[in-house]
Amino acid sequence: MVKDAYGRETTNIRISVTQKCNLNCLYCHREGDGNKNRSDKEISVSEIKGIMRAASKLGIKKVKITGGEPLLRKDIIEIVREISLTEGIKDISLTTNGFFLNKFAHLLKSNGLNRINISCDSLSSSILQKNIKNIEEGIKSAAYAGLNPLKINMVVLKGINDSEINNMIKISKKYNAILQLIELIPTNKIFFARFFFSLEGIENELERKANKIFTRDVNFRKQYFVDNAVVEVVRAHLNRNFCMNCRKIRITSNGFIKPCLMRNDNLVKINFASDEEIMKSLLEGINMREIYY
Ligand code: SAM
Repeated sequence: MVKDAYGRETTNIRISVTQKCNLNCLYCHREGDGNKNRSDKEISVSEIKGIMRAASKLGIKKVKITGGEPLLRKDIIEIVREISLTEGIKDISLTTNGFFLNKFAHLLKSNGLNRINISCDSLSSSILQKNIKNIEEGIKSAAYAGLNPLKINMVVLKGINDSEINNMIKISKKYNAILQLIELIPTNKIFFARFFFSLEGIENELERKANKIFTRDVNFRKQYFVDNAVVEVVRAHLNRNFCMNCRKIRITSNGFIKPCLMRNDNLVKINFASDEEIMKSLLEGINMREIYY
């Protein structure tokens, strides 16, 4: 297992496979991966395979596929299959806006995907910019396909969807999904000042009501078990505990290693000449990991 300069083990890799998205969420950080009009070439399946082989040799076992919208990649099934065939990779998940999930859920599962996160901030189609029925179909298909755990990601925004938390807990319970309540990460100062909603009060309430609380190794995130629902709270902003327990290295959709979501001044271009060179690049990226907050 490779440790960074702060003694943090790197166990997870988060790979963005495209910058393209069918939505345009105002708050989206795009994995800190440039702007939406960027025209750079996307990382290829064989490059992804090389990164996975190298990552696995460094002891990384968990992979998250993200984007943009990863289901827009025409070869997404091949990507999942190739990652799942990599020796040493034990757990693959994918985060999606759910729009195309109904069509893909079973195929993703049968090609090796273990888990899925579905971003769904609201039960109102107008807030979501997409039809909630379509998303519910996607959630249902993912549940039937056996993608487990199934997580619903809800970024909570002040005055937009903060009144929907209880309803989102209900819908997550209905599909046996874990609801992840996510605090906004700043991308724009004015937007952040207007829409940031602190989850401190909600977390205190969950703590009072929970019959069990579980703290995950990753980011020290807490999961609250309340009335047969599971709610995970993700509060990254200004959270030193979150950063101290970060175990992740990121890959951008155009083939750079990104040591931290919040920074773009320390990207490492991957040398794809051989697996050894990819490993060297990964080690360089891991060595550049720092505690942001
Ligand atoms: N399109 C996919 C999706 O919707 O899941 C993958 C990309 S999206 C950037 C990955 C996750 O990041 C989503 O759950 C999204 O809600 C979350 N996210 C995006 N911008 C964020 C922000 N500024 N603060 C907190 N979470 C954010």
